[in-house]
Amino acid sequence: MINPPNPFVRADLSDLAVHDEKHFLVPVTMRAMVLEEQGKPLVSKTLPVPKPSSMQVLVKIIACGVCRTDLHIMDSELKSPKLPLIPGHEIVGIVVKTGQEVSMLKPGDLVGIPWLGYTCGYCRYCLRDQENLCENALFTGYTMDGGFAEYTVAYENFCFLLDKNYGNPSGAPLLCAGLIGYRSYNMTGPYNENIGIYGFGAAASILIQVAIAQGKNIYAFVREGDEKAKEFALSLGAVWAGYSTESAPVALDAAIIFAPAGELVPKALGDIDKGGTVVCGGIHMSDIPSFPYDILWEERTLRSVANLTRKDAREFLELTTIVKIKTQTQTFKLEEANEALNALRYGDIRGAAVLVM
Ligand SMILES: [Zn+2]
Ligand SMILES: [Zn+2]
Repeated sequence: MINPPNPFVRADLSDLAVHDEKHFLVPVTMRAMVLEEQGKPLVSKTLPVPKPSSMQVLVKIIACGVCRTDLHIMDSELKSPKLPLIPGHEIVGIVVKTGQEVSMLKPGDLVGIPWLGYTCGYCRYCLRDQENLCENALFTGYTMDGGFAEYTVAYENFCFLLDKNYGNPSGAPLLCAGLIGYRSYNMTGPYNENIGIYGFGAAASILIQVAIAQGKNIYAFVREGDEKAKEFALSLGAVWAGYSTESAPVALDAAIIFAPAGELVPKALGDIDKGGTVVCGGIHMSDIPSFPYDILWEERTLRSVANLTRKDAREFLELTTIVKIKTQTQTFKLEEANEALNALRYGDIRGAAVLVM
């Protein structure tokens, strides 16, 4: 596995606050927010700065996004995390040290680190280009330590050079919300002019910018009564915004569900046209109620997406150099991770919550 040729410029450190050489002197300890037990809040800790293995790099973290998946891990909806765990899988940072066998990255490189942290390269899924389903995969901030800390280590081949415009909190949401949204979008099929998006958070707010740049019409469905989310969707260029209980004004070619609400599945199936696709973009969803076969009939497709591949990351991050993605972020200090998670839980975040180190 080697990194592909990369179209991105290396970080121009004159633009970043970490230009000073002394920042590359790595301290012995770091601050981190740690999950010690599922169901409990994160605990602020001082820990040794991790050492990169031969294939890894040590990254000084600039910012790390807070994602619904972090809540699913804390709430035990995702089982068997590494414990104790440093969560966080939308990491923007600077490489400060490289392992002996690292050949592509060097200190000073601006990188993004996503959810997919490692794949084996030899299981049947890896061998058939479905590394997102790898049997031996490791996931950042779930089965490997992640970005709710000042430093982290990551495998070189699972770090992606970032355009220097994203070397700040605005880049963090690209690494999960952006990537999962993009993979979901790719699964909507070739006939996808009119796309419904259910749940208008971070993923939708990034995806809509890519989709509109590619000439699609976006219909935004938001939680009943959430006028602000409707306005937000319209401000980003949605052609229509309504409550998830309402019908779209046209039959949709495809629908993407980001909200973790199973009852939206039959609703979305009812909203799409013959031959259309409903994509469930979340890692966890409440139970899907039973529904009449009629709404699946006529070659409608219902599918989920799981994780991401490095190909998704390369394609999407390349797009972000052309379509300048504006992310709306609400920043929190590292020690405020629990507040950020709670705000996300109660729907009080417009755009994306990001921890800044
Ligand atoms: Zn594998
Ligand atoms: Zn995520």
